[in-house]
Amino acid sequence: MPWVTWRTIKRQVCERIDEEVALEFKLVYPAELLPDQPPRIIGRRCSKAMECNQLDKPTCHWAGTLPGYDPFR
Ligand code: SF4
Repeated sequence: MPWVTWRTIKRQVCERIDEEVALEFKLVYPAELLPDQPPRIIGRRCSKAMECNQLDKPTCHWAGTLPGYDPFR
């Protein structure tokens, strides 16, 4: 049976809120019958996205509100 989990891939200060955030991927690991398959990324999020989305401007693709903008690129 596939296994789904969230993993932190990076911690970094985001200048928008001037705080450290954790950037996370939602990963699906394959069933035991397919052990050599790498996990698939099916989602992403920022640990401060809920607070950040309450500000008056669209945020970034880590919050899902502005898909074309990544503040860490
Ligand atoms: S949601 Fe985006 S802009 Fe807001 S704190 Fe997280 S990384 Fe920064």
